[in-house]
Amino acid sequence: MQNAKLDMKRFLVVIIALCSALTSFGWGQKGHDVVAYIAECNLSPEVYQKVVKKLDNHSLVYYANWLDNASYTDQYRYTKTWHYANVDEGYTYDTMPKNEKGDVVTAINLCIAEIKSGKLTPEQESARLKMLIHLVGDVHCPMHAGHLSDRGGNNVVVKFFNNDIKLHKLWDTELVEAAHKWSYTEWEQPLNRYCTEEQKAKLANGTAKDWLDESHKIATEIYKVSPEKGKLYYDYITYYTPVIEKQLLSGGLRLAKVLNELYD
Ligand SMILES: [Zn+2]
Repeated sequence: MQNAKLDMKRFLVVIIALCSALTSFGWGQKGHDVVAYIAECNLSPEVYQKVVKKLDNHSLVYYANWLDNASYTDQYRYTKTWHYANVDEGYTYDTMPKNEKGDVVTAINLCIAEIKSGKLTPEQESARLKMLIHLVGDVHCPMHAGHLSDRGGNNVVVKFFNNDIKLHKLWDTELVEAAHKWSYTEWEQPLNRYCTEEQKAKLANGTAKDWLDESHKIATEIYKVSPEKGKLYYDYITYYTPVIEKQLLSGGLRLAKVLNELYD
């Protein structure tokens, strides 16, 4: 009996450790799925066919979260720092000392350049494509452009409806779910289908660095209104829902534009 209790304790510790590891690296799964699905809906039919073929007959959504787990494997451990680019208060991406292992901006640019080069093996190209699908999502997470000094909001604990939560996790996961209880396909319709072609073209613009700069600007405001132990309620969700919607829509449209250009 004592042993069974101990085993259960160990099991729970492993589960808790696993959960915290899985939630620390990007939009939660929902956010990444939404970005990938909006991108899918904006690919030309020819490009969509080409991309699906390169993903072994899987959709973009299928691989939207792949890198969050793959970054823990020996083969792809080098991508662990690729999910974010921290920018401290008083700095910009340009003036902030760079992570020599790479960041989300250098990683997106590398994936695009290598696919464009045409020099990758099919396996290498497939891996870079999966990374790109995920990282264009990550660069649109505001707390992935948060401060290095608090590990992108991982060291800031706020109260969300009286529950303690890390600011980073609040933004990656909880706030997306609090904004709308929708599946990824349900998120697509109100955001993408009611957006005019002119609005889409405007939103899809920019480079990976521009997208990071935008996320950092949002993060700067988030820090001001979400201090340590700050109590966040319905008004916070109301204020930030349109921001989350814009980030997910922009991410999807930008990923589509990159892929439409790469595989035209
Ligand atoms: Zn990630």
